[in-house]
Amino acid sequence: MNLKQIKSNIYQIDSNKPGKKIIVLGGVHGSEKTGIAVVKKMINLFEKNKINLVSGSAVLALGNEKAIEANKRMVREGGDLNRYFSQEKLNDLEDTSYEANRARELAKIIDSADVLLDIHSTLKPSRAFLACENAPKHYEIHKWFNAQDVITDQNYILSGGNYSTTDEYMNAKGGVGVCFETGYAKDTSTAYEVMQSI
Ligand SMILES: [Zn+2]
Repeated sequence: MNLKQIKSNIYQIDSNKPGKKIIVLGGVHGSEKTGIAVVKKMINLFEKNKINLVSGSAVLALGNEKAIEANKRMVREGGDLNRYFSQEKLNDLEDTSYEANRARELAKIIDSADVLLDIHSTLKPSRAFLACENAPKHYEIHKWFNAQDVITDQNYILSGGNYSTTDEYMNAKGGVGVCFETGYAKDTSTAYEVMQSI
């Protein structure tokens, strides 16, 4: 078993063979249960040696632990972890909030990753879709997910003009950031399928 805990609710698996480093995130928004279930299940399967990596390394992480515990998108106003990945916020060391510190922990890992998969779900019923950049290098990841649509935000409108989401941060660091929206947050029936895609 090559699984080791590197931070609170962050685990790394090394194959000890050359290859890409992939980070899988769930629970960046605490009420989006499918991603949380997928990350927990994968940690469990690696622990029990039921799955393993052929090459490279992987990091499995839960995002906003406080929000997960509270079963809320975020635990305070302005505390959306998925708006904390701007260079400005990551560099603002005067912000010692839980979200700022958690974002810095995760950003450090993303800095050394090649691919980021961030699993989200929607507040209203929806079909699954990809919410991220749609460049050719993203297609290689998109094809594994059961979604017909890619919604892009090239001008970072959602983030107020500068990158601030996990997938945008991964792209800014030269990797491939993909956010997969699994569908309605209260419907976790696709967790197994999402895990297969990952
Ligand atoms: Zn979300």
